[in-house]
Amino acid sequence: MYNPKSLKAEEFIDHQEILDTLAYADENKDNLELIDQILKKARERKGLSHREASVLLACDNKEKIEEMYELAKQIKYDFYGNRIVMFAPLYLSNYCINGCVYCPYHISNRHIARKKLTQEEIRREVIALQDMGHKRLALEAGEDPKNNPIEYILESIKTIYSIKHKNGAIRRVNVNIAATTVEEYRMLKDAGIGTYILFQETYHKESYEKLHPYGPKSNYAYHTEAMDRAMEGGIDDVGLGVLFGLEMYRYEFAGLLMHAEHLEAVHSVGPHTISVPRIKRADDIDPTAFDNGIDDETFAKICALIRICVPYTGMIISTRESQSVREKVLSLGVSQISGASRTSVGGYCEEEPEEENSEQFDVSDKRTLDEVVKWLMEMGYIPSFCTACYREGRTGDRFMSLCKSGQIQNCCQPNALMTLKEYLMDYASEDTKKIGEALIQAELENIPKEKVKEICKENLLKIEQGIRDFRF
Ligand code: SAM
Repeated sequence: MYNPKSLKAEEFIDHQEILDTLAYADENKDNLELIDQILKKARERKGLSHREASVLLACDNKEKIEEMYELAKQIKYDFYGNRIVMFAPLYLSNYCINGCVYCPYHISNRHIARKKLTQEEIRREVIALQDMGHKRLALEAGEDPKNNPIEYILESIKTIYSIKHKNGAIRRVNVNIAATTVEEYRMLKDAGIGTYILFQETYHKESYEKLHPYGPKSNYAYHTEAMDRAMEGGIDDVGLGVLFGLEMYRYEFAGLLMHAEHLEAVHSVGPHTISVPRIKRADDIDPTAFDNGIDDETFAKICALIRICVPYTGMIISTRESQSVREKVLSLGVSQISGASRTSVGGYCEEEPEEENSEQFDVSDKRTLDEVVKWLMEMGYIPSFCTACYREGRTGDRFMSLCKSGQIQNCCQPNALMTLKEYLMDYASEDTKKIGEALIQAELENIPKEKVKEICKENLLKIEQGIRDFRF
């Protein structure tokens, strides 16, 4: 029986409830009266249920879709302004004992080069990332208790936080590692991680089991219940995601929102972020072998609806997507993007020779961070390197209440401008710097509180004098 408060995977992601939801959506996809009612509710900016959201996803009326896009843009603007948070992934190890059929790290791939960074290699990777200007990382590793035990991950986090190269610093480490125990989540929390990210891959249990034929990840319930264990271990910022292409997107979309509803029902705080990866070509993986690929238009609609349905949840897009797709979904709701990513182990220090490939997937957007930063600013966005919230204890529901209070503009806006200023001073090309300085001057006016604006201006001057790391 469907029960969002249950701690059992098959009860909070109830298969029959998803089937009933999809049937309800099909029945009502042309019911314009209902669609208008749902859109009216969405305009209150309090989110939508998975059922309501699924009706909007099924609707193919062009005018209504346009209304959904307009609303997504407005909600995006109201909650996130024009700020876009920047990050990069850091692959620690691609040793893995799982059998995920879409991932080239699966254990039976004897062709891919297996690599695991030593602490010294991590140091070099982090210096390379700091030298680009990155302040926020997402750690990635395969699941392998022998090669990548929790002690290795913890030691790596410690190393990363300890490196201060020139004016560089990694100030927030998010972690994307396999589902684990409450005890290990507690260790990650104590190590000072930001968000714990784990993609569900697919919410469809039968497909999940086929796609994960062996290894610890094959346990659907253990994987699906991971966020509850993470929260029990004290991590209150968790990031959800599905790998689009594996199963029917409408099923995944309903499952994703049911997962968010479950977290809210049990822990009183929804997901901190939702990622929207699509399956990509990789070493021995051919994405066309999967039947459920979605086109760019459907992908954009999913992003817009996530924005409408969970307004307080950040949305992340990676370099799996091309510049043009990224451009489209930025306006529709995405709030965080990666730049200059390498998905190979050790890839920031050295280009890999063809025969030593350790990449997880092909990246589509291959631009440098400076190019991405400049591109964002030319479109009117503020690239933000801010990591203030979790360092100021604004995690979980405390972060959500900042969003809900309307005070976000007095906090995130100055933090974005000050961290962008650091980037311009330390890493930007001349062109980028020029555009950025003008943008900062203009955007200072969008800080509502006079006092905050004054402090921000003073701090910008101090950054010019060489002082770093101011935050509200
Ligand atoms: N091993 C951990 C786990 O099982 O969750 C870490 C995650 S893995 C390094 C990061 C994510 O990349 C996976 O959760 C999966 O969704 C995604 N991924 C795997 N193969 C992919 C592919 N061929 N194309 C795009 N994304 C892929």
